[in-house]
Amino acid sequence: MDGYDSQIQRLAGLIKQAAPKVVALTGAGVSTESGIPDFRSPGTGLWEKVDPMAELSVTAMRRNPQRFYTFGLGNFTKYKDARPNEAHLALARMEEAGYLTGVVTQNIDSLHQAAGSQNIMEVHGHMRTGRCLECGGEFPYALIQQNIDRGIIPPRCECGGVLRPNVVLFGDSMPDDFIRAIWSVKSCDLLLVVGSSLEVTPANTLPNLAKKLAIVNLAPTPFDHQAAVVIHAQAGRVFADIWAALADENN
Ligand code: NAD
Repeated sequence: MDGYDSQIQRLAGLIKQAAPKVVALTGAGVSTESGIPDFRSPGTGLWEKVDPMAELSVTAMRRNPQRFYTFGLGNFTKYKDARPNEAHLALARMEEAGYLTGVVTQNIDSLHQAAGSQNIMEVHGHMRTGRCLECGGEFPYALIQQNIDRGIIPPRCECGGVLRPNVVLFGDSMPDDFIRAIWSVKSCDLLLVVGSSLEVTPANTLPNLAKKLAIVNLAPTPFDHQAAVVIHAQAGRVFADIWAALADENN
């Protein structure tokens, strides 16, 4: 317990020192306390039995649209009512208070937006919209869902083209937000990794660009030995405590 408290004080101190040049890199682990399972925690069921890299790939979307749209993608749409947790909220408060310049997220769940974060770089896209592979039109994701619900798979645009979600699938090229993320991480003084196994490439190249690294993750990551602080605990609890420590002028 003593160890945990001193880690919190140390991390809060590093954030204060580096503010406002602090950037967060979040992964699926920041959203598990909102009820959305990650890919790599043991015992979370579904993703233990199927390979997300095979199910959520460009190849899977083309070869077996029925399975891709109902099963692979369907695993994310069922969490549309999820709400931000303490970790999302603390990161938003930290940005508002001038401790943090932005959040790079690998998540597609829009929970950083829901928490109030402003500068968000979604390096794996999101589930708010989709696009037509024929005419290039952009549509709310609801249109894709309507098609799926009516059994129209793959979903179709009015022009007849196939609609796909604006998530970055395995096999897709990286979006502009990834370039923004590279520059943000390069120009920050502290990168806070939150809830990521750091096993997905190229997002896991970002920690090597940071001047200083701190990691908050339940399980060990391959970057722990490079980090100034590593806290293996629930992100919600850690960030509630960090926010309290930042607010404490004696820190
Ligand atoms: P990952 O599943 O590979 O790793 C998640 C990590 O978070 C694990 O190491 C786990 O120990 C840790 N973790 C779980 N709950 C935690 C908690 N409450 N507090 C702290 N740590 C916790 O996830 P990844 O590194 O983000 O890579 C998987 C890819 O799949 C990413 O692109 C990811 O965003 C995507 N994905 C997204 C969502 C989402 O949008 N919510 C959900 C599943 C997967």
